[in-house]
Amino acid sequence: MNTKEMEKNPMPFDGLHEECGVFGMYDFDGGDVASTIYYGLFALQHRGQESCGIAVSDTSGPKGRVQSYKDMGLVNEVFTPEILGKLNGDIGVGHVRYSTAGASTRENAQPLVLNYVKGTLALAHNGNLINANELRHDLEYTGAIFQTTIDTEVIAYHIARERLNSKTAEEAVRRAVAKLKGAFSLVVASPRKLIGARDPFGFKPLCIGKRDNAYILTSETCALETIGAEFIRDVRPGEVVTISPEGGIQSDMSLALAPEKEARCIFEYIYFARPDSHIDGVSVYGSRIKAGRFLAMDSPVDADLVVGVPESGNAAALGYSLQSGIPYGTAFVKNSYVGRTFIKPKQSSRESSVRVKLNVLKEAVAGKRIIMIDDSIVRGTTSDRIVKMLRDAGATEVHVRISSPPFLWPCYFGTDIPEREQLIAYNRTIDEIREIIGADSLGYLDVERLEELSEGLSICKGCFNGIYPLEPPKEDIRGSYEK
Ligand code: SF4
Repeated sequence: MNTKEMEKNPMPFDGLHEECGVFGMYDFDGGDVASTIYYGLFALQHRGQESCGIAVSDTSGPKGRVQSYKDMGLVNEVFTPEILGKLNGDIGVGHVRYSTAGASTRENAQPLVLNYVKGTLALAHNGNLINANELRHDLEYTGAIFQTTIDTEVIAYHIARERLNSKTAEEAVRRAVAKLKGAFSLVVASPRKLIGARDPFGFKPLCIGKRDNAYILTSETCALETIGAEFIRDVRPGEVVTISPEGGIQSDMSLALAPEKEARCIFEYIYFARPDSHIDGVSVYGSRIKAGRFLAMDSPVDADLVVGVPESGNAAALGYSLQSGIPYGTAFVKNSYVGRTFIKPKQSSRESSVRVKLNVLKEAVAGKRIIMIDDSIVRGTTSDRIVKMLRDAGATEVHVRISSPPFLWPCYFGTDIPEREQLIAYNRTIDEIREIIGADSLGYLDVERLEELSEGLSICKGCFNGIYPLEPPKEDIRGSYEK
C-alpha cells in the first residue's frame, strides 16, 4: 500500500461521535492546575479524540498572561511532562475535541484564548449552536476577524463584547449566552474567576466538583473521580455558575426554562458518557442496564448467550441477561488503541476496518444462538460485518437488539447523525434492515421507553421522532463555515 492509497481516519467505523469534553479548575490555594486538568481530560478522552488543549493563568499575576498548549492527537500524545511543566497557573480550562462543526485542524482545537481590553479569557465549549452563522455574520459586519471556524470563537467574541458594558465577567457571560441558540456546556477562565454555563435545554452535561480548596467544572463525574475530587452537584440547565474565593459558588438561573421544557441529549445515557458517570443524578450504567431489560421485555427471543458490542453495548447486554435469564458472556475482544492517525484500510484490502478494532472469541460463540446488543445503527455499514463475524466464528443464530430507537432524523446539537437519506432506518421497515445486516431477528428500543432511561427527566428525542426542542435550521448548517 503506498501513501496515496492510505486514508487517515480517526474513527473508521459506523459509530456516533460526541463533539467534546470540557474541564476547568481553580485552586484557591494557588497550586498549579495543569497536571490535574491533564488527568481530567484523560478521563474524558472518550468524548473526543481528534485534538486537545489546556490553557492556564495565574490569578495573582498580570491579567493578560495565559499560557496554553493544544494540538491534534490524544491527551497522552499531545502532552509531555515538559509541556505540562511549562503551564503554570492556579486557574485553567482544558478540552478534548471531535469535530462535528468546524474542520479537524490545529487552529480549531480548544481552549480558545482571547485577549481583549479587560484581560484574557480562556474558553472550552461542548455542543453545537444552530445560530452560529447569524451571530458570526453580525460580528464580521462590525469588523471582527475570525481565526477559526468553530462556534466557540463566536461565543468568545460575544463575551468579550458584552464585557465592555458589564460590571462583571459573569454578567458578560450571561448576556452573551442569552444570544446563543443550541447546545452548549461552557467553561471560561477569566483572570480571577472560573465560570460555567449550560444551555437552557441542558443538552450536554456539566457538573461541579471540589478537591481540597480547588473547584472543578467538567463534562462528566467520571473525571472528578479520576482526580480524587468530590462531586458537589450538576450545573442546572440554563444556569451560569461563577466560582471565586470571594463568592464561593454563585448561581444565576435567569435563563432557566420550566423543567418540562428541558431537553437532555438521551444519547449521553445510551452511548456517549462513560458508564461510571452520573448525569443530573441518573447513573449512566443504570440507564444502560434498564435499556437491556426493556429490550428483553419488549423483544424477547430464545437463545443461549447474550453479548454486547463493546463498550456501550455491554451494560445493555447485562440488563438483557438479568431480565431474560439467558447467560451473559463476552464475544468480542476490542483493540482500543485507535488514535487519530489510524490508517483506514482500503475497501479492497484484506484487513477490515471492523476486524482491526474487534475480534470474535470463537470459543465463546461457536455452536450457540447469540443475542448481540449494540447501542445504535447509523448507516448499517458496521452491523452487517459484526453479524458476519459471529457467524464465521460458528454462531448458529444471531439476533440483534439495539438499545436505542431507530435514527430517523439528523442531529443539529453536537452529534454527527447525518442527513436522513444516509440513515439505514429511513424509509425501511425493521425487517428490511434485518435483512441488510444479515440477522435472524432485529429489535430496537421502543421510543416510549426513553424517558424511563432518564428516570423521568425531560429529554431530547429529535433524532428519533423529528420533534426538536428548538426549531431546526432550514438547511443543514453543520460545518458550513468551510463551504
Ligand atoms: S437529536 Fe438526538 S443526538 Fe441530537 S441532542 Fe437530541 S437526542 Fe441527542
